[in-house]
Amino acid sequence: MTESTLVLVLNAGSSSVKYQLIDMLDGSRAAAGLVERIGEVNGRLLHTPARGERRERLRVFADHAEALAAVAEELAADDLGLGSPGLAAIGHRVVHGGQRFAAPTLIDDEVVAEIRRLIPVAPLHNPANIVGIEVARALRPDLPQVAVFDTAFHSTVPEAAATYAIDRKTAEQHRVRRYGFHGTSHQYVSRAAARLLGRDPAELNMIVLHLGNGASASAVSGGVCVETSMGLTPLEGLVMGTRSGDADPGLVFHLHRVGGLTIDEIDDLLNRRSGLVGLCGDNDMREVLRRAGEGDGDAQLAFDVYVHRLRKYIGAYYAVLGRVDAVVFTAGVGENAAPVREAACAGLSALGIEVDPALNAVRSGAARLISPDHGRVAVAVVPTDEELEIARQAFALVHDDI
Ligand code: AMP
Repeated sequence: MTESTLVLVLNAGSSSVKYQLIDMLDGSRAAAGLVERIGEVNGRLLHTPARGERRERLRVFADHAEALAAVAEELAADDLGLGSPGLAAIGHRVVHGGQRFAAPTLIDDEVVAEIRRLIPVAPLHNPANIVGIEVARALRPDLPQVAVFDTAFHSTVPEAAATYAIDRKTAEQHRVRRYGFHGTSHQYVSRAAARLLGRDPAELNMIVLHLGNGASASAVSGGVCVETSMGLTPLEGLVMGTRSGDADPGLVFHLHRVGGLTIDEIDDLLNRRSGLVGLCGDNDMREVLRRAGEGDGDAQLAFDVYVHRLRKYIGAYYAVLGRVDAVVFTAGVGENAAPVREAACAGLSALGIEVDPALNAVRSGAARLISPDHGRVAVAVVPTDEELEIARQAFALVHDDI
C-alpha cells in the first residue's frame, strides 16, 4: 500500500474558502485554489492543479457546504478527491484558540465545541472556521482533521506582556488578554530565517514583521514567542491595510459620546475604514507607493504613519529582547515593498540595524539577507508559507498519533 502523504489545508473565511493540497514528501502543491463570494450572486471557484489547466467556475455557492462540495468535485476530477487513499489528513486554519489550544489539535466534537465557545473573542473568524471543519468532517468522517491555531505560537508570551492593565476580575470574566494572531506565519518565518542564517533557532533573538493586509510584529527568543503586537483581537499594533492598529481607547468613548457614532459604526471604522485606506483611500501598498511617488500628500502621510509605527515597534521589541540577531520582513508588503523595509530601518544604525540599498532592491521569491556584511543585525526577507506550516503540523500530529 502506498503511504498517505497528502494534506489538504483549508482556510475558511467569512465568505471564502482557500485550499491547498500539499504533498509532504517534498512540500509541493498537488492542487490549490479558492472559492470566493460565498452566499453572493457572483460566486467564483478558481482551481489550479499542479498538472493541467487552471479552471474557473462562475456560479452561486449558497453556503460553505456547497463551496466545499464543489472543491471536492474539482479535486476528484484530478483524481485527488477527498476519498483518495493518498490523503493523510485535513489541516484547518483556526484563528482563535484562546488559552486552551497552544498546539495543533486533533479535532473531535469536544474540540469543535471549545472553538465555538471562543466565538465571543473572535466573532469574525471562528464561526467560518467551524463551518469549514463541520463540512469537511461530514465529507470525510474517518479522516484525521487537525486544527492549527493562529494564536498558538503566541501562547508562550509571558504574563507581563499578555496582561492588559485593567481590572483583573473583569479581564478574567471576559477572557481579556493578549492572544496575538498570525502565529503560524511568525513560527514558520522565524524558523526559516534561522535556516537562512545557518543558526539554531535556540540561539537567536529575532523581530519578525508580518506585513500583509493585516500586519503584526513579534519578538522571538530562542524559537519562542515572547511578545506580539496583536492583542485580544487582530486590531491592535501596527498600521494595517484597513485597520488602525494602536489607538487611544479613549477615542471610542469620544466618537460615541461626542460624535454620536454607534459601537458597530466605530467597530467598522477601526477595522475596515482605517489604516492605509482611512488615511489615503487605498489599502494596497503598491498604490500608496505609486501615489506618494507622484507627490500625493495623503499617500505620503499614510506611508509615513505606517513606517513610523513599524520603526517604533522595532525599537520597543529591541528593548524587550535586549539583544537582537535578526529583523525579518515577511508577507505581501514585507516581501515586496523595498521602500517600506528601507524606511522602517532608517535611523536604526545605532542599534546595529542597517539595510543595504542594492540588496534591498533585488526582487526575488527566495529568503534573502538585505543587510550589509558589516551589519551587526541580520536584516532578512523571508517569504511566509502558512499553508505549508499548517500541513507540516497536521501531518506531524497524525504521524505521532499512529
Ligand atoms: P498578504 O496579506 O500577505 O497577501 O499581503 C497583501 C498586501 O501586500 C497587499 O494589500 C499589498 O498592499 C501588498 N503587496 C503585494 N505586492 C506588493 C508589492 N509588489 N509592493 C508593495 N506592496 C505589495
